[in-house]
Amino acid sequence: MRLPQFEYVEPKTLKEASKMLASDKKTVVLAGGTDLLVNMKHRVIEPRRVINLKAIPKLDHITAGKDGLRIGALTTLHDIASSPLIQEQYPAVGQAAGEVGAYAHQAMGTLGGNLCQENRCRFYNQSPFWRGVRSPCYKAGGDLCHVVKKSGKCHSAYCGDMAPALIVLDAQVKVTGPDGERFFPLKKLYNQNGKKPLSLKTGEILKEVFIPPSSGKTLYLKWRLRDSLEFPILSLSLHMETDGKGQVKKARIVFSSVGEGPVEAVSAEKMLKGKLLDERMIEKVSEQAVKEISPMRTSIHSPAYKRKMAAILVRQALEELRNAE
Ligand SMILES: Cc1cc2nc3c(=O)[nH]c(=O)nc-3n(C[C@H](O)[C@H](O)[C@H](O)COP(=O)(O)OP(=O)(O)OC[C@H]3O[C@@H](n4cnc5c(N)ncnc54)[C@H](O)[C@@H]3O)c2cc1C
Ligand code: SF4
Repeated sequence: MRLPQFEYVEPKTLKEASKMLASDKKTVVLAGGTDLLVNMKHRVIEPRRVINLKAIPKLDHITAGKDGLRIGALTTLHDIASSPLIQEQYPAVGQAAGEVGAYAHQAMGTLGGNLCQENRCRFYNQSPFWRGVRSPCYKAGGDLCHVVKKSGKCHSAYCGDMAPALIVLDAQVKVTGPDGERFFPLKKLYNQNGKKPLSLKTGEILKEVFIPPSSGKTLYLKWRLRDSLEFPILSLSLHMETDGKGQVKKARIVFSSVGEGPVEAVSAEKMLKGKLLDERMIEKVSEQAVKEISPMRTSIHSPAYKRKMAAILVRQALEELRNAE
């Protein structure tokens, strides 16, 4: 499949890139290209101009400080997965990076591109020929949804690996826009809107991710068809802090691929607080977490199957962290 024609630019500063992005609705930014270029080949995104961020210096770094760790948006997933600093301090983040797609996606793909990747749907991520037999859906500029007929909105799923592992650690993001920089929780980057999944304002570009120091243990579990190359059917990250005698002080559970953005099981987290993690509690929490997700038929896997697997993953994650105490 060939790329459509577009204008290609390589600004030297983030400010310049942000101004270019803000000046034209049909301009997009390119990092590793492993998501964007595939979507362009499928003609689901047809930009007039593509801004390559890779000529901008100082966006590719992993920097440790007293207040936490900073990772530049252009840092590749391979560099994150193989960083001794990340392996030592935030192993689940390194593990999630090492589980994205195949080696080529990790070598080219960046943290910024992973967090800002487009949502996915089996009716959208297809060739124009395949899509041509149906009317265009909301996400393709039409006025219906082939997944939920009368819902009036797009239910495409956020399928990124990095966001859950970072959100449970309270990661923050820094973005640069035409009006300067903003710093906010990564969780707020996602607005749970399948048609336009990111809350970035016009011209804003992700610059850096900040992970505060963390106590406790974190785990990332990914369920997929083939280990060699696959988006998650669903995945979750669990972060847990205990008092050392098995009582939970704090827990966070965030899923990927079961909603229009990363989904946090807030009530299940509350249920865990102050409790001993015995078998009964593990069962109750996994049942509760499943009630908090709303998978739709956006992939070949049924919502019922995803719910079943979600309960299994939550149980497995809680047991693994309990046994690691
Ligand atoms: C076969 C295949 C398998 C894959 N498997 C997985 C998987 O298992 N898990 C997974 O998470 N992903 C997967 N991906 C998707 C993709 O490879 C990764 O998400 C990758 O990390 C994207 O990063 P990138 O730098 O290549 O992004 P790009 O393709 O360059 O960009 C992706 C999107 O983010 C935007 N963007 C990029 N950088 C920024 C920035 N700094 N600020 C604002 N917007 C930005 C772009 O405009 C674009 O819309 C897969 C892709 C393919 C083709
Ligand atoms: S969920 Fe519906 S509107 Fe969204 S991409 Fe799929 S078919 Fe299109």
